[in-house]
This record gives sequence, C-alpha cells and structure tokens, in this order.
Amino acid sequence: MLIPCPWCGDREEVEFRYGGPVPMGYPPDPQTVDDAAWARYLYYRPNPKGALEERWVHTAGCRRWFTVTRDTVTNEITPATDGSG
Ligand SMILES: [Zn+2]
Repeated sequence: MLIPCPWCGDREEVEFRYGGPVPMGYPPDPQTVDDAAWARYLYYRPNPKGALEERWVHTAGCRRWFTVTRDTVTNEITPATDGSG
C-alpha cells in the first residue's frame, strides 16, 4: 500500500506508523460528563465501512505527522480535506 506523505510523496507503508483514527475532541465540560460519555471518549473508536480519517507518521522519512482519509474497504488513501498536515 502506498501512502502519500505531504512532504515526501508516495512511499511504501513499511515507512510509516499508524496513529489511529483522528481523535475525538476532549469533553468541553468534563465535570458534567457521566461514566457512559467518558467510556465513549476513552474507548470507543470509529470503525466505518468506508471513509475514515487517520493519523500517520512517516517514521522512516521526514518523521512528521499528517492526516489522510482511507477507505477501509479498498484502502484507497486521499489527503485529508481539513488541510491538517
Ligand atoms: Zn515524509
């Protein structure tokens, strides 16, 4: 699988480390969050059949983090639309 590093171009997957899905935001008012909401924040991760935004780091290259959108069915990767490199 080729992964497009924003700074180095397309490189083989072995040069990267997976950082997981783009994290959910920290609860804005943690004092009011119940146990179920904390469990969702800490342990639940998206697992869609289709597009998923993910963080990757180019460990064998520029060592920079970036976000891509990967289709979990086809593994097709496109740069993230939010511009976070
Ligand atoms: Zn790179």
